[in-house]
Amino acid sequence: MAITPLMPVYPRSPVRPVRGEGVYLYGEGGEQYLDFASGIAVNILGHNHPHLTKAIQEQTATLMHVSNLYGSPQGEALAQRLVDATFADTVFFTNSGVEAIECAIKTARRYHHHHGRPEKNVLISFRNAFHGRSMAAISATDQPKMIEGFAPLLPGFTVVEFDNLEAAEAAVDENTAGFLVEPVQGEGGIRPASREFLQGLRRICDAQDLMLIFDEIQCGVARSGTFFAYEQFGIEPDIMTIAKGIGGGFPLGACLASEKAAAGMVIGTHGSTYGGNPLAMAAGQAVLDVVLQPEFLDHVQRMGDRLRGALEQMIPNHDHLFESVRGLGLMLGVKMKTDSRAFVTYLRDHGLLTVAGGDNVMRVLPPLTIEEQHVTEFVEKLSEAARHYEVPAAA
Ligand SMILES: *Cc1c(COP(=O)(O)O)cnc(C)c1O
Repeated sequence: MAITPLMPVYPRSPVRPVRGEGVYLYGEGGEQYLDFASGIAVNILGHNHPHLTKAIQEQTATLMHVSNLYGSPQGEALAQRLVDATFADTVFFTNSGVEAIECAIKTARRYHHHHGRPEKNVLISFRNAFHGRSMAAISATDQPKMIEGFAPLLPGFTVVEFDNLEAAEAAVDENTAGFLVEPVQGEGGIRPASREFLQGLRRICDAQDLMLIFDEIQCGVARSGTFFAYEQFGIEPDIMTIAKGIGGGFPLGACLASEKAAAGMVIGTHGSTYGGNPLAMAAGQAVLDVVLQPEFLDHVQRMGDRLRGALEQMIPNHDHLFESVRGLGLMLGVKMKTDSRAFVTYLRDHGLLTVAGGDNVMRVLPPLTIEEQHVTEFVEKLSEAARHYEVPAAA
């Protein structure tokens, strides 16, 4: 047998973390890594954050799981907190990002069904989007590596160019249910949408009674410098998916919706065995205890400005490698002139964790709790690595 016990769908690196503390990860042999990847934008409070760890330990010993057949004081409390802090009026909890996407798609279709327009069941999504790996989520992207070999994809999705309002408008027809869009494309290469684009989508949705779904699974929960990225675009979605940061490392996602958008989601229309169980709710509460402190967003913005400034200063010294920096808050991407994947691998071997992204981008996604010293350490090590890096010969 040649296949590994772990299904070999990931190109796993030689980094094998067994312990984490703050902004650092430690490998099996004690090797230290500065973690500016955060489990891909998940560990927003870093590793082993005392408040989050304690909340999970205490809740485990109190009540871990009960069925959604029973009342949920824990779920009601976290949902209320999210409702109070966002556009939303109601929340469905999930265990992952892609399950939140599934709920969002169902909510949008069901909205039109509820209003007697079942033919309006096609969502317009965008080139290089990433919404997860379920059949519906891969049907909403055009990335070959995600869809090849999985035909037939699900009907009900049309993919058009990202950040092109004309293309989006031209794709709308009598079957359109709405738009599904990342305000800042993450996996696709840290590409913030323009204000005009997102405001234009909002306008189309308002004019034609369509659903605007924002996927903030990567850019949400303070990553962008505001609690949610949509706040920076002067508009609100009808439905929003979140995950990653909201659990701080505990598997937790949610689909948020306005009362209007959730009109069709009545008893029996959706469900989840684990979604919103007391343990997950305790993790979410602990994360929000930290993130909703008044000074937290200021800190993210300040660290984001520092990191971005330092990266921009460094680029001219290595302009054979780096082109530009983009992104919002602590969701940054360094557009590279060479293969970003090979460079990210090289950095890993030198104790620095980042994430490769589409469009030849190196994603820089540190815990939101970093301090200035970590920014300094990161940029020093990055410069050092860039100085010694030998660009691989083109294949
Ligand atoms: C990670 C991600 C997802 C999928 O989340 P999973 O928890 O892996 O299912 C969906 N959308 C975006 C924008 C993401 O970054």
